[in-house]
Amino acid sequence: MPDGNVTIDAKALEGLVQRVVRAFGSSECEAQLVSTQLVGANLTGHDSHGVGLLPLYVDVFLEGGLRINQHVQVVRDTGTVLVLEGNSGFGQVLGFEALELGIARAKEHGSAVVALVNSHHLGRIGHWAEQCIAAGLVSIHFVNVVSDPVVAPFGGSDARMVTNPFCVGVPLQGRPPIVLDFATSRIAMGKVRVAMNRGEQVRPATLIDHRGEPTTDPRSLFADPHGAILPFGEHKGYGLAVVCELLGGALAGGPVIKGKPHSRATINGMVSIVIDPARFGTQSGFASQCDDFIRWVMASPVTAGIDRIKMPGEPEADFRRDRTAHGIVIDATTWAEIRKAAAKVGVVEVWPPV
Ligand code: NAD
Repeated sequence: MPDGNVTIDAKALEGLVQRVVRAFGSSECEAQLVSTQLVGANLTGHDSHGVGLLPLYVDVFLEGGLRINQHVQVVRDTGTVLVLEGNSGFGQVLGFEALELGIARAKEHGSAVVALVNSHHLGRIGHWAEQCIAAGLVSIHFVNVVSDPVVAPFGGSDARMVTNPFCVGVPLQGRPPIVLDFATSRIAMGKVRVAMNRGEQVRPATLIDHRGEPTTDPRSLFADPHGAILPFGEHKGYGLAVVCELLGGALAGGPVIKGKPHSRATINGMVSIVIDPARFGTQSGFASQCDDFIRWVMASPVTAGIDRIKMPGEPEADFRRDRTAHGIVIDATTWAEIRKAAAKVGVVEVWPPV
């Protein structure tokens, strides 16, 4: 590790995260859910949503913005519509519980809509689609984010929204599932942080500085006053971000963003539509139609620099295979931050030492 980076086996990293979360006073189950989801994000290549978030979680917990050992509370239940309150608990627990309920209702009724409000950070949203896929179900997730605004509206010159993710999961017979999961900003905020920690620039046309001028310097997003990330796909990505805010937040009575909140907590609202595809009675037709379509699309001759056409979810599956076999690389800055954060809650022996 000449560059100070650390390569860690996923299970060992989960163990470390569990020790830190248990030091919060969390139950074994909570510590396990948090560690599996954070390390799962690293495993799928999304370091922005992996263990690098632990220092922020520690600070927000110590400041009182993240409450331990919370469980979803049912606010409204019409059978196929559930509204759940999260009370600023760990999103890793609340998201899991919300979708367990959604899965059960979708199996019972054919479909269900589950709205979770006031959850602390829900992490990588693809994780929740994968929970539905494991139960054989399609899911669509609209998520809003209430924290310091970092994304400019289309045509705007300062930050008014956060990175509102959107996600769809589709289980397929005889093929890996489709997991479409992205932030509606041109890149996820955590990826700007990762670039800053690695001393790298971001791609042009991704960021504007605090004057609204284009920049590739990731530090411009964390300086005071800070700049903004642009929405992806011009007015279309911006429009999807708006819809995520309205459905993920306002529809179920959760907060929406309307300024800089006082707390550093990241509050997510998520509306998930969970569908049992078997209720359409089209299983064999659906499978062969999907297969035909995917083969057709993937037969497109690739352009320069692209090795093959992929389906959404494939890059994450590739990362998962590679990182499960060879370990997860954590950059030196992120590792130092994790060690410092662990010490704040009394966990001082962090393996491996650097
Ligand atoms: P991204 O830009 O890496 O896009 C990921 C999506 O694009 C995946 O579905 C992936 O399979 C697909 N993809 C990538 N390359 C592909 C290719 N070559 N061919 C086909 N499909 C391809 O993701 P992002 O916008 O950086 O988001 C990263 C993560 O951040 C997501 O998991 C998201 O849920 C999470 N996030 C969470 C929050 C929150 O508040 N909880 C906010 C924003 C983002």
